[in-house]
Amino acid sequence: MHARIIDGRALASAFRASLIPRVEALAAKGTRPGLAVLQVGNHPASRIYVQNKVKACVETGLRSTQVELPDDVSEADLLEQIQVLNEDPQVHGILVQLPLPSRLSADRVLQAVAPAKDADGFHPINMGLLAIGTPRFVPCTPLGVMRMLERENVRVEGRHAVVVGRSNIVGKPAALLLLQKGATVTVCNSKTPDLGDVTRRADVLVVAAGRPGLVASGMVKPGAAVIDVGINRLPDGTLAGDVDFRGVSEVASLITPVPGGVGPMTIAMLLENTVLAAELSVASTGRT
Ligand code: NAD
Repeated sequence: MHARIIDGRALASAFRASLIPRVEALAAKGTRPGLAVLQVGNHPASRIYVQNKVKACVETGLRSTQVELPDDVSEADLLEQIQVLNEDPQVHGILVQLPLPSRLSADRVLQAVAPAKDADGFHPINMGLLAIGTPRFVPCTPLGVMRMLERENVRVEGRHAVVVGRSNIVGKPAALLLLQKGATVTVCNSKTPDLGDVTRRADVLVVAAGRPGLVASGMVKPGAAVIDVGINRLPDGTLAGDVDFRGVSEVASLITPVPGGVGPMTIAMLLENTVLAAELSVASTGRT
């Protein structure tokens, strides 16, 4: 078998295009959806991620505000800046670029974002809504994974989905979304003994561990759909996922590449969450 490769860039571009009518409908009511991206320090990778997000906003007709704070900003100043954005009627979505310097409490910072502007879906209220099966703002990467599976007509209901990784930003919400779609879900973590024994039973395998090449071809069920969320910078400077792409392509029916798979979808979902936040704001207040 040779797996079909999911083109995340093409899918993301189609999703972004599908947002334009929603952006235009909001514009007709006098609202331009706005995303504020808050970055602490000058981490080079974060800078590239932020620039990509800003560019995608502009291309889709969203307003984007970039707030750069110095590496030594105090937590109080950062929280105050978030409060300013919470109260700004032109800002509908707020994203705090992670990672934050370790001296700042990421939990406190993420909880300071107004739940109604939580474009990343990390606030405990939004995570709670997802957990009880009434999602509102869903974390962008797992949402992108689900949209990919839908677009590629991968049946999830009644099948066994295995998620490798249990982080709050990828693994856990991915597992909750798969559960909500009727999959039987197994979540693995770094303490899982004999990972291959579990992954070999997956019809749908989502890997988000941050370990290059963790999943080899012998760990995959023939015909499985394999979604590789991992992004790892190798010593030679190239990017690699958590899945041995070449080997697993010979076994799976469907696979995402890295780069060009889940990454572009994450940004498209960020825009979608911002548009949704603007729509909910207009519906609740009738104002921008
Ligand atoms: P994390 O470090 O917070 O979590 C990693 C998880 O993987 C942990 O739960 C850990 O227990 C598990 N794990 C580690 N080694 C394992 C092993 N040998 N067997 C089983 N489980 C193992 O990372 P994260 O933030 O969830 O990100 C995971 C990967 O996804 C990273 O490579 C990250 O760069 C990437 N990522 C990509 C996107 C995207 O847009 N494509 C977005 C977010 C994260």
